[in-house]
Formats: sequence, C-alpha cells, structure tokens
Amino acid sequence: MKGKVNALKKKLLIIEDNRDSLELLIKVLRNQPYHLIEATDGEEGLKKAIGELPDVILMDISLPKMGGYDILKELKKREDCSHITIIAVTAHAMKGERERALEAGFDGYISKPIDVHKLPNQIEYFIKNKKSGKQLDDLESF
Ligand SMILES: [Mg+2]
Repeated sequence: MKGKVNALKKKLLIIEDNRDSLELLIKVLRNQPYHLIEATDGEEGLKKAIGELPDVILMDISLPKMGGYDILKELKKREDCSHITIIAVTAHAMKGERERALEAGFDGYISKPIDVHKLPNQIEYFIKNKKSGKQLDDLESF
C-alpha cells in the first residue's frame, strides 16, 4: 500500500547550490506529494536529471561547475527528458531575465525570494501548462 502511494508521488529534482535556499525549498515541499531529489552543483544536477528522469526540476541558474542554461541545453537534446517540466528559480533581478529564461526553453520561471505559500501552486501550474502545450509567453507571470 505504501509503495502504491509513493508511486503516485511526482519526482522533483532540486538543483541549488545555496544551502539556505535548498533547505527552504525542501522544507516547503517536503509535505507536498513529491519524492524529492537534491543536487548542489550543475554537473551533479545534470547527472541526476538523466539518471532519475524526474517529473519536475527546480533549477537555480547560477550554479558551480555547470550553469542552469547549459543544463537546460543538454536536457533539451534528449528525447527521454522531454517530459520534464523544467523551472528556473533565480535571484537574477536583471530586467529581461524571465523573458530570457522562457525563450531559452524553461517551462516556468520563479524569482527569489520564493513565496513559500505560492510555490506548490506555481509548480503545479507550470506542470499543467507544459502538458497542455501552451506557450509560456502568453501566460501571466507569478
Ligand atoms: Mg546559485
């Protein structure tokens, strides 16, 4: 029975090098229906994405060893990763960063500081929209 319940959980990979940010994300998502996987640098993140084939990735953009845009590019080349909802989570306050992320092919964009109350809904929203094949450019920003 327990195995069956776990099978219904979505696999969510968090790639985040900042310890405090990682702990906050885990704290917020621990009680949600996700099986959480963590990676703390870009290379580890890419390796776990390919090895675990998660349903969702929450990805910091600025990462040691390999940046978020490079990870995204690698995952986009792979047929077996095409189902993954890939969400950028970034502190880049630069104007146009959201547009840049969506243009690069991220399925969602969440800016830091994250809103702990909104986060679960934001994730589900991006998953739903990826499945429906909607263009993110047309979507409202959170
Ligand atoms: Mg970082």
